[in-house]
Amino acid sequence: PLVLGIETSCDETGIGIVRGDTLLANTIASSMEEHARYGGVVPEVAARAHLEALTPTLRTAVADAGIELADIDAVAVTSGPGLSGALMVGVGAAKALAVSLGKPIYAVNHLVGHVGADLLDAHGGPGHPVELPTIALLVSGGHTSLLLVRDLVSDVELLGETIDDAAGEAFDKVARVLGLPYPGGPQIDRVAAGGDPRAIRFPRGLTKPKDLDAHRYDFSFSGLKTAVARWVEQRQDAGEPVPVADVAASFREAVVDVLLTKALAACRDYDVPRLLLGGGVVANARIREVAVERTEAAGVALRIPALSLCTDNGAMIAALAAQLIRAGHEPSTLGFSADSTLPVTEIQVTR
Ligand code: ATP
Ligand code: MG
Ligand code: FE
Repeated sequence: PLVLGIETSCDETGIGIVRGDTLLANTIASSMEEHARYGGVVPEVAARAHLEALTPTLRTAVADAGIELADIDAVAVTSGPGLSGALMVGVGAAKALAVSLGKPIYAVNHLVGHVGADLLDAHGGPGHPVELPTIALLVSGGHTSLLLVRDLVSDVELLGETIDDAAGEAFDKVARVLGLPYPGGPQIDRVAAGGDPRAIRFPRGLTKPKDLDAHRYDFSFSGLKTAVARWVEQRQDAGEPVPVADVAASFREAVVDVLLTKALAACRDYDVPRLLLGGGVVANARIREVAVERTEAAGVALRIPALSLCTDNGAMIAALAAQLIRAGHEPSTLGFSADSTLPVTEIQVTR
């Protein structure tokens, strides 16, 4: 089916168009720069930016795909989880589009969409099924989630998630401590390249035996962030220079170590020899390196979609809906709403 997907859960306005699992267009407008001076995504600003960007982004996507809007078989939209106001803009637009075209609408889960990204080839080549079952590690500015995906359209289980900050959020906050601009992830990555990851032993959240009982696959990054801030402060108070590269490298190492240790523990515990990565933090050079090393050592197959499909986009939402359609799922009724805390088990919101 020819599906148009709308994604507005955070700061990216994404419109994607797919034919089954073949990517036709993946157009993205981001309000990231508008959030820079606040050091994080401001919900009101994001919602307003979606409203402004939606129509031009839609036009570009339709032109890129070389289709007519009237040709599409269905509209897909992220209905959650995400920022409430931001989601509502996408949901409203999607409903209006579906009604005006007289086409069915599929309201889908953003997190499962990230897994669906792996269906697509970023260059528009033929897509392929997601190999299942798989463990999926989704890491971005808004979420840090570990999933067990047995079936993309019917069986996704949440194994763990962050109990405080998301991994990307930790990058952004630590960057601020180090005087680096927003978004902090790319900045820390750049600076860390010249540092020693073993210079400082920062804490690995929720990895102590006493924590593992209740939080085996959960993450915590706020203690790490505080530890980095305190370490930097002590240096400054003592009038000593801060070795920014070593701090960045050691912090990055701690985040990557915890993420991959827990993901590979899940692969082992559930006897699932596959790991899929998604989310903006996957741009990190070190997570890619360590993921390759550790999955190879563990005999686990690693999947990392192209970065343009790892960050928030509409194509993954369209691709997931195309799978729902293929599996014979009914469309959502128009009564559905945005749900900022939609659980990952709810792959499609039907009403
Ligand atoms: P959502 O959580 O809904 O997916 P988001 O906009 O926060 O939305 P993304 O756009 O996927 O998520 O990712 C942005 C986050 O990724 C930011 O926190 C940013 O600092 C982080 N990030 C980007 N590049 C890197 C990198 N090289 N290393 C580490 N983190 C990175
Ligand atoms: Mg973003
Ligand atoms: Fe996302």
